[in-house]
Amino acid sequence: LAKESGRNQFSFYTKALNADARAKLAMENELRRTLLKHELTLHYQPKVDLRSGHICGAEALARWRLANGSMVSPAEFIPLAEKSSLILNLGAWVIDEACMQVRTWLDAGLKDICVALNISARQFRSSDLDKQLEQALEKHGIEAHHLELELTESMLMHEPEQAVATMHKLKQIGVKISLDDFGTGYSSLAYLSRFPIDTLKIDQSFVRGVVTDPDSAEISSAIIGLAHRMKLRVVAEGVETEDQLAYMRTNGCDELQGFYFSKPLPADDFAELLRSGKSLAQ
Ligand code: C2E
Ligand code: MG
Ligand code: MG
Ligand code: MG
Repeated sequence: LAKESGRNQFSFYTKALNADARAKLAMENELRRTLLKHELTLHYQPKVDLRSGHICGAEALARWRLANGSMVSPAEFIPLAEKSSLILNLGAWVIDEACMQVRTWLDAGLKDICVALNISARQFRSSDLDKQLEQALEKHGIEAHHLELELTESMLMHEPEQAVATMHKLKQIGVKISLDDFGTGYSSLAYLSRFPIDTLKIDQSFVRGVVTDPDSAEISSAIIGLAHRMKLRVVAEGVETEDQLAYMRTNGCDELQGFYFSKPLPADDFAELLRSGKSLAQ
């Protein structure tokens, strides 16, 4: 009997696994088609300068709209795309789309726009990221200072020497570089000082706790101190409440990003918000 139920259990698991694998494959194929059919879009979340209260940039975040109107979260499809070379197609599309959007905004008279793009590990390691960026900048006729690349610690610490070299190549183009989700990976401080970066982004898991959890508060203020000692700017991501904003203000954070100010917005809505010149943090 035990054997019997053991076997049943086994076949239950393989069935479940197969179903899971099939679902993943189906999603991957769907994503591939999506890229071709232009069902992918970018939303833009404002970054707010804490001193002026004005929008000082945006982070471009991928959105996948299904035929039935529902949205698949990038938390679901990016990790999937990263498992295959699909992430390279997706990454190339994001670069081109963001440059096209910056061009549109500049043509519409908006100035001082800097759009941050999330770069995946594979994309960062691919040998032609710098050429892709240069080509997209040239194609859309925009200057490199309008772009920022968000990298994560884990993708840099994988092969840090190589990463330093790649980052220098990217910096030479003139784009800015920030370290995303900072504090959740494990950068060595020695390398951190060698990375040619402009900005640290405090991970939202710490920002969430600054008012309620002393550890999160300590870590956040330590990151702000570290960034400033290293002459870097520091951004708090995932700011949702006035108390979190107040903490960041008291502790001298430079920029804030989060639902308290705005969700990621479709391009036109972002432009409208930017054009309104509204101060978002007073
Ligand atoms: P991330 O780069 O750390 O982006 C910040 C995430 O936090 C976004 O989720 C954003 O919508 C969300 N967020 C912003 N403010 C708040 C807040 O106040 N509260 C909460 N709870 N969340 C907030 P999203 O758009 O779902 O993206 C998830 C992750 O997917 C991103 O994390 C990034 O790692 C990845 N991703 C998104 N777009 C791209 C892309 O174009 N390429 C690559 N390679 N990765 C992307
Ligand atoms: Mg990011
Ligand atoms: Mg982040
Ligand atoms: Mg994240």
